[in-house]
Amino acid sequence: MLAAMKTKPSAGAELAVIDIPKPKPDEVLIKVKAASICGTDKHIYTWDKWSQGRIKPPMVFGHECCGEVVEIGSFVKGIKVGDYISAETHVPCGHCYQCRTGDMHVCRNVSILGVDRNGIFAEYAVVPEICCWKNDSSLSVEIASIQEPFGNATYTVMESNVSAKKIAIIGDGPIAAFACGVAHAVGAARIYNLGMIEFNLEICRKMGADISINVTQEKNYRERILEETDGGVDIVLDMAGNKAAVHDGFAILRRMGTFTAFGIAPAPFEFDMAESVVFKGAKIIGISGRKMFETWYQLRNLLDTGKVDPRPVITHRFPFKDFIKAMDLATSHKIPSSKIVLIME
Ligand code: ZN
Repeated sequence: MLAAMKTKPSAGAELAVIDIPKPKPDEVLIKVKAASICGTDKHIYTWDKWSQGRIKPPMVFGHECCGEVVEIGSFVKGIKVGDYISAETHVPCGHCYQCRTGDMHVCRNVSILGVDRNGIFAEYAVVPEICCWKNDSSLSVEIASIQEPFGNATYTVMESNVSAKKIAIIGDGPIAAFACGVAHAVGAARIYNLGMIEFNLEICRKMGADISINVTQEKNYRERILEETDGGVDIVLDMAGNKAAVHDGFAILRRMGTFTAFGIAPAPFEFDMAESVVFKGAKIIGISGRKMFETWYQLRNLLDTGKVDPRPVITHRFPFKDFIKAMDLATSHKIPSSKIVLIME
């Protein structure tokens, strides 16, 4: 089969022909129908510092996908050949404290598809049964493949109780855009969206952001938000995570407000805990992955009923054979893109 491999510990990747993997007793083999490119894949492709410490080539990367089950392991009970599935990408151990108390998305021994084990940028891939999410046959392959990042957005919004609140979503990438859609659908009263790229801010507006602020162009946006909201937004959803975003977030958060952290900073930075959190009475919520599987049921409800239409976020589609072209676009700083989907057939 054709697979996108990280063959060397350096930038880039290559399309290689390798054996179709064999599912273990608790796994299924899928024929991949669509796969989408995540920020994580960009890190692996460009071979940044994080990848150098985490990724062990040679390996198949990629984790956002959907596909048809073509073979099942001998222990598999809930999935059958022919099922149309998407994959939850956090593979839990099933035995640790978190797994046994309903928090398997933060399993202590978590192994991530396409990061710690072979992923899905390939014609076929193995997925553990526990991570299979059955789709309705009517769901388009591109939407089925983006449910995993859509789930990050859904979990972030649902954990933050945004209904009838004034909120700020920091960041303008695909997950921030999905979060604008989910927050709008579940009744946020006003959504400020802070970003840096006009192309992406426009997508966030289409998804439901009420007020977009390009922080590279508008000065005094902190003061403006504090004034318009009479002391700050009730909730900040940080989908960017860098130092500037975190500082902005706490600066525009009202006293006793909630800061929900999803974005990941490239490196640790200095932060004034006393001013930002203690004296403010702020609450901080960390978001990792998706709640297994409460988030998946919620996101299905949002997509099935049309409460959220994620299609404006999907800006590019490529056949799988053009994988390198797709990765070059995804990592280009010149040509804007949001979610890029690879169609396998
Ligand atoms: Zn566990």
